[in-house]
Amino acid sequence: MKSIHVTTPGTAEVVEADAPVPQPGEALLRVRFAGICGSDIQTFRGTQPFASYPRVPGHEFSAEIIEINGDCDRFAPGDVVTGVPYFQDGTCYSCRRGLINACEHNETMGVHRDGSFQELITMPLERLHRADGVDPRDLALVEPFSIGYHAVRRAEVAEGERVLVIGAGAIGLLTMLSALTRGAQVWVADVVPSRLEVAESMGARGSFDLSTVSIPDAVEAATEGDGFDVVCEATGLPVSFTNAIEAAAFGARLVLIGNGTREVTFNQSVLIKKELDVFGSRNSRDVFGTLIDLLERGVVDVSPLRTKVVPFTGARSALEAAAGGASEDIKVLIEFPPTS
Ligand SMILES: [Zn+2]
Repeated sequence: MKSIHVTTPGTAEVVEADAPVPQPGEALLRVRFAGICGSDIQTFRGTQPFASYPRVPGHEFSAEIIEINGDCDRFAPGDVVTGVPYFQDGTCYSCRRGLINACEHNETMGVHRDGSFQELITMPLERLHRADGVDPRDLALVEPFSIGYHAVRRAEVAEGERVLVIGAGAIGLLTMLSALTRGAQVWVADVVPSRLEVAESMGARGSFDLSTVSIPDAVEAATEGDGFDVVCEATGLPVSFTNAIEAAAFGARLVLIGNGTREVTFNQSVLIKKELDVFGSRNSRDVFGTLIDLLERGVVDVSPLRTKVVPFTGARSALEAAAGGASEDIKVLIEFPPTS
């Protein structure tokens, strides 16, 4: 089978690899679509602190079940599935309290272990979710959707609340969609106009291009100066963190989703003065089924996010383009051939 290896930082190759063999309780999957995520780009660039090389990136995927090792009445060969890509140890203090998404020894596919940028993978059956009625391209977006959904759940976004999402990449836009499913009014901020257009087409109440609009002006325009009830930070940039604090209403919740490597300087007294609740949000847990149900019922449409599909033979140049940072693409999917 073909497998996309990041052999060393900055170098990706399509190589021939042995097909994996499913262990008891596992399924052999033929990957159909795999999304390129920021963490895959970090693995490719060599800025992912947990990655070792060579590494197969990828943790967002849809796939077809080829073979099941063992008895199973939930799945059968031919089923189209996606899977939860975060492997927890099950024994640490986080896991013992049910916080498996924040396992102290979490291993995410594509980062700590090989991922989904290959034709065949194996997965434990309990990690799989079937989605017969969902376009397999949309199904590959369930994992990033789960990140946004977990974040709005962390912040307990409620009906009628005014929410600002900073960052209109895939995670920001999926956070927006998640807040919309809870009945919130959502504004989106970014510095790329084309992304803001997508945000508005997908249901944002309004958007702000922060290259031309100040935070106080955005707060005035959206909330008549009150400030936002919830601010979701989905860029990982220091300036976005301080913008989030500035945009937050007194008594607001701030939820941090974007990972960053740069340090941020701020006066902690502003958290006290505004009495802000600040939440970190890591991975997701127990939401794949909910999101697949939303997609199957057509409650949400994630299709505008997948702005490009490339064949796996073009994965290397897609990774290079994404790492270059100049792209206006929101989510690039790598397509693998179906079972012939
Ligand atoms: Zn654990």
